[in-house]
Amino acid sequence: GCSTEDLVAALRAAAEVVIDHRDELVELDRLIGDADHGENLRRGFTAVVSTMDGGGWSGPASVLKAVAKTLISTVGGAAGPLYGTAFLRAGAALDGRAELDAPAVATALRAALDGVLARGKAEPGDKTMVDALTPAVQAAEAAAAQGADVVATLSAAAGAAADGAAATVPLVARKGRASYLGERSAGHLDPGARSTSLLLTALATHAG
Ligand code: ADP
Ligand code: MG
Ligand code: MG
Repeated sequence: GCSTEDLVAALRAAAEVVIDHRDELVELDRLIGDADHGENLRRGFTAVVSTMDGGGWSGPASVLKAVAKTLISTVGGAAGPLYGTAFLRAGAALDGRAELDAPAVATALRAALDGVLARGKAEPGDKTMVDALTPAVQAAEAAAAQGADVVATLSAAAGAAADGAAATVPLVARKGRASYLGERSAGHLDPGARSTSLLLTALATHAG
């Protein structure tokens, strides 16, 4: 299982990874958006590190809701409300739990995806973070159903997210700023799909 303190440590480490990839995410967003995704997330996840330095957590749900609040108040753009909603829904799905096991991880990821879909109205194939998160949720559910532990479940999710992100390259964007480019958005990796993949890979690496 994964304790509240383990989750705090994993989220802090994941935040550091996103911060370290600021320039890459800015460059991806420069190609098909407005060049701010990396800076938006650097600002937000720097604030998340500070939030994780606090304490008084009453369980995994309280940690994820604090991350959500921090991201919503600091990130801005399209990604701020979307990632904020994802963490908020993930937290709500874990209300009352003292620890995370693999099925709980899958449940939280499914809730996060549902939140992003409700908020952003994107569908798979629209060249957004949904294209990384959807296969990640499916892989996590399959892994958990087969008895995988938390790390293996997150690793399965991360692998699927990486593949899903890579598969956004040929797609034409139908949501967000990249959609303004129409056909010219094809041939580039979606920044939000890339950041989702980075986050899940970092969580999988640091949850153990
Ligand atoms: P903005 O586009 O407002 O500058 P960011 O650059 O921070 O915001 O985030 C852009 C990313 O947000 C995109 O690469 C895409 O993955 C994601 N995104 C944009 N619109 C949507 C949407 N409606 N649903 C899901 N994801 C979206
Ligand atoms: Mg942008
Ligand atoms: Mg912007």
